[in-house]
Amino acid sequence: MSWSFRIGRLFGIDVYIHATFFLLLAWIVIAQYLSTRSAGVAVYEMLFVTLVFGIVVLHELGHALAARRFGVQTRDITLLPIGGVARLERIPENPYQEFVIAIAGPAVNVVLAILCLGWILARGSLQSEIPANLLHADLAGRLLSINVALVVFNMIPAFPMDGGRVLRAVLAMGMDYVRATTIAASVGQVFALLLGFGGLVTGNPFLLFIALFVWIGAAQEASVVAARASLAGIPVRYAMISDFRVVSPTDSLEAIAHHVIAGFQQDFPVVEDGRVVGMMTRSDLIKALADAGRQGNVADVMQRAFVAVHPDEALTEAFQKLQTCECHSMPVLKDGQLVGLLTAENVGEFLMIRNAVRQQASRSPAPLVSAPRA
Ligand SMILES: [Zn+2]
Repeated sequence: MSWSFRIGRLFGIDVYIHATFFLLLAWIVIAQYLSTRSAGVAVYEMLFVTLVFGIVVLHELGHALAARRFGVQTRDITLLPIGGVARLERIPENPYQEFVIAIAGPAVNVVLAILCLGWILARGSLQSEIPANLLHADLAGRLLSINVALVVFNMIPAFPMDGGRVLRAVLAMGMDYVRATTIAASVGQVFALLLGFGGLVTGNPFLLFIALFVWIGAAQEASVVAARASLAGIPVRYAMISDFRVVSPTDSLEAIAHHVIAGFQQDFPVVEDGRVVGMMTRSDLIKALADAGRQGNVADVMQRAFVAVHPDEALTEAFQKLQTCECHSMPVLKDGQLVGLLTAENVGEFLMIRNAVRQQASRSPAPLVSAPRA
């Protein structure tokens, strides 16, 4: 994520903090100072918010470490002012695995809440022996309520909350994955409406914001899963671009800029002696042109590490790779030879054409065009 700074590494996972988080800290310090005129209170509140975000990191680590048990790596954890995001390489479609990964985050908060409760109960009996200033009056109580709130908020049965994934996983244990997702997404949208209604009645803008967030999350999850389902059983070669241009490592950046303007292609496979040695992407080209002008050639700028797919590979898997590699296009290689390019737009076009042909075919007994068979 841009505007994120790495603050450390836990269990081999990089933890980032988004720049807007510092704005939140600054806002808390200023607001507290203005209302209490006490620098001590302002600093204490800032430390408290930092502690809360430490708890959010533990929650995200719960997901990440549960995922690791199933061989799913986490690319990074980012802290935003609205919470944390653990970017898993993929979400397993095995309902049991998804259930464990989704529940692991809130489970961390349940454990922390129990510890806080233990602290509060123990404090009653220790009060006489430990100086009062070591047992700050409300810290344990505040941490307890934060953990309870995190459990309740995350277990709202709606995507993209953990509760939505738990619900889908439980449903998918008894039915087809796509159907489970559709039902879970509808339940999420009902919750979004209730939250939105609650927000309007109480005049709470925060509830309205969450309602919107949940509504969009549910729609997105349903459409991604539906797209994946309609790709099932289709190999990459049906949806790949086979009419494309390649470039050579010695081509000048100026020449590539002309190709980008003259055609539809954004990324170009870089071929040397018949083999793909890298990918020249439009964003790298733009950056290079801004940094060094028209000097330089493809070899200076191309991405030497790239993800490739096989023409017989399932489109569902290739589509997942496209989403996780953060690349716009992937070369399709057969026995080391370049045979195509795969982009998300092209997969989208393939689906549109396929659905159109299917609709037509369902209306007329003898279809004029036959789509690649699933
Ligand atoms: Zn979570």
